[in-house]
Amino acid sequence: MTPPPSSAPRRIDLHTHSTASDGTLTPAELVRAAAEAGLDVVAITDHDTTAGWEPALRALPPGLTLVRGAEISCLWNGVQPGVSLHLLAYLFDPDSPALAAELARVRAAREIRGQRIVELLRADGVELDWTEIHTAAAGGSIGRPHIAAALIRAGLVATTTEAFGPQWLGWRYRVPKPDIDVFRAVELVRAAGGVPVFAHPRASRRGRIVPDELIVELAEAGLAGLEADHEDHSPAEREHVRALADRLGLVVTGSSDFHGTHKTVRLGAHVTSPQAYERIVAQATGVDPVVSD
Ligand code: AMP
Ligand code: ZN
Ligand code: FE
Ligand code: FE
Repeated sequence: MTPPPSSAPRRIDLHTHSTASDGTLTPAELVRAAAEAGLDVVAITDHDTTAGWEPALRALPPGLTLVRGAEISCLWNGVQPGVSLHLLAYLFDPDSPALAAELARVRAAREIRGQRIVELLRADGVELDWTEIHTAAAGGSIGRPHIAAALIRAGLVATTTEAFGPQWLGWRYRVPKPDIDVFRAVELVRAAGGVPVFAHPRASRRGRIVPDELIVELAEAGLAGLEADHEDHSPAEREHVRALADRLGLVVTGSSDFHGTHKTVRLGAHVTSPQAYERIVAQATGVDPVVSD
């Protein structure tokens, strides 16, 4: 007897951004681009917002599964002020009051911080216009990439990477924002039926190394997984994350962290295994993945 034909392995990208935060494709364009890139599953994970969920759902191409999520800006007292830790949260109930309130608080803080960065730049003679930046963000959760885009439009830098250099947003004009304590974020995501996965925990190039001891404590507090395959991780950093996840029984993910033209990485540049994906879905009780037919 010949074995039944095995279906092609699913391509699963669990970390992408739209214009609901600092990506450059609208949620509708994002899901269409995901289908065109040959993905079977895509997660929309905008910074501190679920505003992209509905428009992504409405535009979902046939056969593509949408995982609704967010990337939550977190702080922990062990890292320097102004360096956020990023917690991916999947399939949580967006109406869970405590989590929704915290996300709204961080979005409001993003506005104040953005305005403050522009004030500091203007005090140094850099003539950016906050209203113009705010308008360009079109209601999305505002972030430094929006200011980077304004610096590019003003001809002051050539690329987003340059705008994140130490002379600009990376250091000189870095302003902290009051993110959510990372343990509280894990607790709130779980309470909302969601599944928390630590984004790019070893991105040394971005000055964002999360100590293993913190991951151990977070695993005890309900963390479900670690993102290993990410463009900000070197091969050695990916191995380190994988070994740590194995030791702690955590799920390992891989994702593009696609931002449209705000970054160079392509959709599906890194992917998550179907087994890891199923483990995440099995833990979720907030909302379900959605596939349109
Ligand atoms: P914010 O959330 O406002 O602090 O801005 C952080 C966002 O900027 C993240 O989504 C990153 O993807 C992006 N970002 C951080 N560093 C860089 C960089 N060096 N080049 C391009 N984008 C970056
Ligand atoms: Zn971003
Ligand atoms: Fe991130
Ligand atoms: Fe991201």
